[in-house]
Amino acid sequence: MTKRFLAGMAAAAALLVVALLTAAPPITAVTKFKLQGYLTARADANTLMILDDRIELTTASKVVGKDDAGEHPFKAEELSPGMLVEAEGQWLDKHKFFAEKLTVELREDQKKIHGTAYLQEEPGDADKIAAGQPSELKLDGYWLELDANTKRSWNAAKAAQGLPAKEAGAPSGLAGYHVKYAGSPRRDGRIVAEDVELGPPAPADDYKMPHNLDVVGAKDAQTGIDVLEFRQGNKVHGRMKLLAERSVQEYVSHLGDSLIPEGAKGTRKPIEFRFFVVEDPEINAASLPDGTLLINTGLLGALENEAQLAFVLSHEMAHVLQVHYRREIEETRGSRVGLTIAGIAASAFIGNAGIFMAQVGIASAVNGHQRELENQADRLGLQNVIEHGYDPREASNFSRIIIERYGNRTTSKLWSNHDSSLIRGSFLTVQLMREYPEGHWDGTKKNTKAFEQMKDDLGPVKIL
Ligand SMILES: [Zn+2]
Repeated sequence: MTKRFLAGMAAAAALLVVALLTAAPPITAVTKFKLQGYLTARADANTLMILDDRIELTTASKVVGKDDAGEHPFKAEELSPGMLVEAEGQWLDKHKFFAEKLTVELREDQKKIHGTAYLQEEPGDADKIAAGQPSELKLDGYWLELDANTKRSWNAAKAAQGLPAKEAGAPSGLAGYHVKYAGSPRRDGRIVAEDVELGPPAPADDYKMPHNLDVVGAKDAQTGIDVLEFRQGNKVHGRMKLLAERSVQEYVSHLGDSLIPEGAKGTRKPIEFRFFVVEDPEINAASLPDGTLLINTGLLGALENEAQLAFVLSHEMAHVLQVHYRREIEETRGSRVGLTIAGIAASAFIGNAGIFMAQVGIASAVNGHQRELENQADRLGLQNVIEHGYDPREASNFSRIIIERYGNRTTSKLWSNHDSSLIRGSFLTVQLMREYPEGHWDGTKKNTKAFEQMKDDLGPVKIL
């Protein structure tokens, strides 16, 4: 997760504030809002839901569908859960929105998906895939269906060429390997695969910190408090204060360890995930390229149950396993990572994690990756909590907490309007609705005594 994720969440509030453009200066300024998200339910003939927000339609509401040919009339009775819509209108009340115009994004259904991901888990159908048989593949947080028409380049031996031989006892499967794919989404959310191509795991260097920094747990010599040090050789470039409560640190580490996907062992150099609770009031968590996860006390204070924390940790681990730092550099910044670390006083405590990460060249650890990568981490995070028996609906319930906390619909001081969190939270909900029948999650884990104990041990914390 990241600040942008949270920013998005808050933007649930929606917030593309659209000032009405009028030729003459308006006497009373009318402010319209736009609300974007996936329909999660239809409450009645005139009420549509996007998570907790009720979108009210009247006979005056204009409903249109938008596709490549442009906008055309759309029958309101055909509106159904799963559709991506944009509502323009006004807030009548908290969670109640009147839509003057509702636009259904129809291109969404026709869109072909081209993706690339490292396998988070061992593919159950690997042999069938190689043999050209009908099979399925859990990849990139999707279910891919392979049939006779799927073009396959799936040769495990070829993909492993040139890789160092695995040590005895090391897993010899395909978890951690790379797959490039293309396909078309079906109505039920599954992807009909047109193309799948197996490739090698990421090079070990992709999991290195920039500037050869090492992240090391240590004790401050003067005060004896636990700190996390960012070192280059013997030189300390910055320190973060760790939460002193051992039991909280241990709980988070233990939970994190239990959630590590198989793919972590399949990389060329197994990734060692480490989990640290840092004293920071912001509701955020961050992951560093080497598998270090930073979990803020503010986040722990805001979470309601273990399933939500499991989702956040899984999301962060996906950033690491999918080498999002390297991808971000390749795709958005060329190869420009600063050559030197400037302006950080040796051994000083880091006042602002975001500024520090920017200085060492990994701003996205705290500020968020580009949208596409955040979505991938969301899908894979969701897949991972499902895999581990947690209730995945808590992922979107977590987005509700953020929306409740930050979602001020009339002013938007905190948040810009990049990504709507409503889109994100409702996407997660729709994704689950499409792929699994109602009631599928009954009996999954939501909370544990250990989580409640952790909250007690944590005590009241400052949350920003
Ligand atoms: Zn993220």
